[in-house]
Amino acid sequence: IMSKLPNVTTSIFTVMSKMATEYNAINLSQGFPNFPVDERLTDIVARLAKENVHQYTPMAGYPPLMNKIAKLTQDSYNRTINPDTELLITAGATQGIFTTILALVKENDEVIILDPSYDSYESPVLLCKAKPVRVALNDDYTPNWERIEKACSEKSKMIIINNPHNPTGKILTEADFLELEKILSKYPELIILSDEVYEYITFEEKHISAHTKNFLLDRCVTVSSFGKSFHITGWKIGYTIAPEYLMKEIKKVHQFLVFSVNSISQFAINEYLDVVDVNLLGKFYQEKRDYFQKLLQNSRFELKPCEGTYFQVASYADISNEDDVTFCKNLIINHGVAAIPISTFYSDHKDQKLIRFCFAKDNLTLESAAKKICEI
Ligand code: PMP
Ligand code: GLN
Repeated sequence: IMSKLPNVTTSIFTVMSKMATEYNAINLSQGFPNFPVDERLTDIVARLAKENVHQYTPMAGYPPLMNKIAKLTQDSYNRTINPDTELLITAGATQGIFTTILALVKENDEVIILDPSYDSYESPVLLCKAKPVRVALNDDYTPNWERIEKACSEKSKMIIINNPHNPTGKILTEADFLELEKILSKYPELIILSDEVYEYITFEEKHISAHTKNFLLDRCVTVSSFGKSFHITGWKIGYTIAPEYLMKEIKKVHQFLVFSVNSISQFAINEYLDVVDVNLLGKFYQEKRDYFQKLLQNSRFELKPCEGTYFQVASYADISNEDDVTFCKNLIINHGVAAIPISTFYSDHKDQKLIRFCFAKDNLTLESAAKKICEI
């Protein structure tokens, strides 16, 4: 058949995790934690499993959970949302992103995607017969607003931002938002999709959410992920917030894509939100980052700055001339550690001898991996 996505292959996260299993390597590639989930959460699930929680929730989500998310948004960002009209529970941020793009982007629209970027933005744009316009970040991974503005036109429908940024760990500053505001003031139709799945994982600098920017509130869709915030990536649950006129369209797609998200995880997270403190997450991962960086300080890799997320970018330019995909494959085969090649986050697969390690791992795993990495 004629492929609708001819250039799409199996995601690098799948490829590297599979290879890591095959070669019994330590998997620092795909981003997921390997330590136990909070027992308070697993206890809630165990108890709930015997209760009446197994049927469809309302389409947009379980109402008590939606109220708690509204409260979380209020507490975290001082933003008041109406959970009935501005909130949708999604099967992970991935579904929030896909559903939003499908609902809002039309044929021939242009969608600005920053390079490097996470892999799930481009395909939904292509499926809408719209045009992804890739704009390179600066060398230090800050957005190049001049280039972004040049890429904007009357055809631009959406700019996708990811803050904190996967894979580089970069976070946006107040100055970035001022530049964004200037651009948006010139293009009244342009909307923002803000992927904030690592919103609670920032370190020295605080995360600045789109939720806190008044100029964005009526033209921005945010996506969040409980997978990232509660160490439960396999649950595939998150949420999307948008002004009512956009959310109305997003819900139309959602009801035919999934109708409603699995019930028991919604009931469980609703209870867990009463006891968990998302504000501890930054400190938790900062300690992991610092420990991992310390373990690697005598390696031949050069570690890049990491302001947020649970990813550490490292250069192997002093070690090998191989392209980064080959380097990562050999890292698994010869050294027993899996990482992600950064070129896969670029539309033109630009090789810069950079790879990404996930440090969302227990200390023993980080130590064993670091030992191997330091022997290279
Ligand atoms: N956006 C970014 C930047 C990510 O790194 C990920 C990976 N988890 C997602 C979205 C998808 O999140 P989820 O697992 O909740 O679908
Ligand atoms: N977000 C995760 C990462 O960047 C992977 C998610 C996935 O496997 N699709 O590693």
